[in-house]
Amino acid sequence: MDTAIMLFTRDLRVHDHPALAAACEAARHVVPVFVFDDVLLAGAPNRARFLLDSLADLRASLRARGGDLLLRRGDPVVEALRLAEEAGAQGIFLSDDVSRYATRRRTRLEREGARRRIRVSVHPGLTVVPPGDLTPAGGDHYRVFTPYWRVWSAARWRPMADAPDRVALPSRLYLSPNHVELDVIAEKFARDPSPGLQPGGESAGRERMRTWLRDGLTGYEDGHDDLPGNRTSRLSPYLRFGCLSPLEPAVAARERTGGEAFVRQLAWRDFHHQVTAAFPDIDRVDYRPRGTEWNQDRDALDAWREGRTGFPIVDAGMRQLLREGWMHNRARMICASFLTRDLRVDWRHGLAHFGAWLADGDVANDAGNWQWVAGTGNDTRPNRVLNPLRQAARFDPDGRYVREHVPELAEVAAPYVHTPWRLPDDLRLRLGYPAPIVEPRSDGGPPDLSGRAPAGVLSGGRRGAA
Ligand code: FAD
Repeated sequence: MDTAIMLFTRDLRVHDHPALAAACEAARHVVPVFVFDDVLLAGAPNRARFLLDSLADLRASLRARGGDLLLRRGDPVVEALRLAEEAGAQGIFLSDDVSRYATRRRTRLEREGARRRIRVSVHPGLTVVPPGDLTPAGGDHYRVFTPYWRVWSAARWRPMADAPDRVALPSRLYLSPNHVELDVIAEKFARDPSPGLQPGGESAGRERMRTWLRDGLTGYEDGHDDLPGNRTSRLSPYLRFGCLSPLEPAVAARERTGGEAFVRQLAWRDFHHQVTAAFPDIDRVDYRPRGTEWNQDRDALDAWREGRTGFPIVDAGMRQLLREGWMHNRARMICASFLTRDLRVDWRHGLAHFGAWLADGDVANDAGNWQWVAGTGNDTRPNRVLNPLRQAARFDPDGRYVREHVPELAEVAAPYVHTPWRLPDDLRLRLGYPAPIVEPRSDGGPPDLSGRAPAGVLSGGRRGAA
């Protein structure tokens, strides 16, 4: 064909991009475009900031190949079709995706494209193994991870797509009234992101992937639950926006020491995507309804959101989220379990808050994991409860994670850093840290010193209690 539109969505890269490779192969001219839909940007400054970084980087990569990236604002289907008409394009290329929004976008494009004789060509690249490729006998998707992992591990992975050497634009560029520039979007949607937010973009993602495969992968199996160690890849926002193809780190890690534990996490990602493809209401409706009666306690929910529940390990996680736009997986599990099991607040409130702050927040992984923790999802042990005190003792034994994120407790030594309510009263009051908002579960922790004189529990945590 002469001209194709490459509609970028959350596949903001040039390496291993099957749709882009196919467009460049099929058409003499390619018009890359990204369309901002306000619905997706509102109320999530970290994701908006990460997206803008990623688009700037993608545009630079396309320009280096002779192309460019047009930016428009509006309904992606309407804008892509309008651009196709303006450019006289015969095809629109895009990557497949699974959310309700994305599925609707694809079906509308296909329908409208067919009416206008524009070929809509949809490609994999979102996951390692495309959702729907693996199905159990008698079902349309896997509901339990272990059998999925078994078939996933044995599945053939598609070959990686080369980055195009050249992206040839048509002789005219198309600037419609809906053209928008990055700074306009930044001003409206990306104000006040978290101060510790990772930089977005394929270049930053590839750099992070290389460094981590070289220095981090070997210790992943033993270290990935170590909260203060911070030994996970932190690739999630890059995978979320498709700055990295998940296939690339999966292939790189598969054969290396420590690789299987990491590849397994990528399989979890695929798992939740294939569940979402089959059950697109995952972010609204209980996957396995259990008749849970949720609490409507707004004060408890606010305390949880702000990281002032009085449970240091929970507050540390929640404050890491606000500060970095990211939270360690173990902390996500502890915080989500605390909200749904200890406070008995509906998982949808937790999902909304994570969705507002996580740079990696997406429908499949976020809702899939929330439902898993809340016991309404794919966990085969839906009654599992994570006792925050036991979790703290196990995954932050020296209290370094808490001290890093909860400055009020910076001088408190372990184990009291996890149970400040057991400190002598006058000491506890001086810290200015809240009392627990619910009765703590029993934990076999340190003796209760409240009502006694302070002695040896302030060891200058920052100086060496860890
Ligand atoms: P690593 O440990 O280095 O793992 C590598 C990659 O595997 C991750 O980048 C991610 O893409 C994938 N992965 C790891 N764990 C999981 C998992 N449990 N489920 C699905 N994929 C996984 N992950 C998101 O990407 N987006 C979310 O919105 C999200 N919300 C979550 C909400 C809750 C309540 C919980 C318990 C987990 C959530 N996760 C989510 C999963 C997980 O916490 C993050 O993927 C992980 O912490 C990202 O850090 P990392 O890149 O260093 O992970």
